Amino acid sequence: MRIILVLGFLFKVIFVFLPAMTVQDTYRHKGLRSRLVQNLKQKGITDKAALNAIGKVPRHLFIESGFVNFAYQDKAFPIGAGQTISQPYTVAFQSQLLELKPGEKVLEIGTGSGYQAAVLIEMGADLYTIERQSELYKKTTRLLKSMGYNAGFFLGDGYKGLPAFAPFDKVLITAGAPFIPKDLLLQIKPGGWLIIPLGEKEQVMTKIVRISDDEFEQTEYGKCAFVPMLEGIVK
Ligand code: SAH
Repeated sequence: MRIILVLGFLFKVIFVFLPAMTVQDTYRHKGLRSRLVQNLKQKGITDKAALNAIGKVPRHLFIESGFVNFAYQDKAFPIGAGQTISQPYTVAFQSQLLELKPGEKVLEIGTGSGYQAAVLIEMGADLYTIERQSELYKKTTRLLKSMGYNAGFFLGDGYKGLPAFAPFDKVLITAGAPFIPKDLLLQIKPGGWLIIPLGEKEQVMTKIVRISDDEFEQTEYGKCAFVPMLEGIVK
């Protein structure tokens, strides 16, 4: 009996406590992050606030442990529940298209790993974020709060948005939407806009500005690939 207890304790130390202690934000991670920022600049990202935020947010803490050593490569990775964390270039590009001013009220659809949310909060957004998968919603809300990133966290269907908290200055969809969700358009302030990867298998990054109550203007920014935006909640 005692042996089992001792073995159990050793198991915990080796597989639970030690890994948790070793996953911190070190100088090595900071160095890798500043290389990533240089890489994103070379790929054409110019928005200072977005680059600054990516330089600050420890992406390795948002990724499953098996991929931690690759966290600062410009790649997408699995985050569980069949979903992915977007590649840093995509996060930077979408953040840049938002042209955020500090304090702006932003709605993100697809909390996922929480990485994009952390970047937006570092950029000064007053953030509201919705996730449809309760597994990710719970895990990510806990992680972001433990890192001091505060936002309105919601388990829900992003197609419906958050009418009770509307209007928003900007809305960002981080999943591939087969069509433009009407409810979301109506939750944007006139003068504000929606960034949406629009399309089924492949998407086109699209900006839809709400010019007035009933006038919208659409601009396209090239091809991209996202996991699909799906209806309903997964308990
Ligand atoms: N912003 C995330 C990207 C995650 S991938 C990050 O930085 O990691 C897209 C996420 O959108 C997935 O977690 C998926 O479950 C979620 N999603 C898809 N359709 C949705 C919907 N209708 N409402 C809310 N979230 C949705």
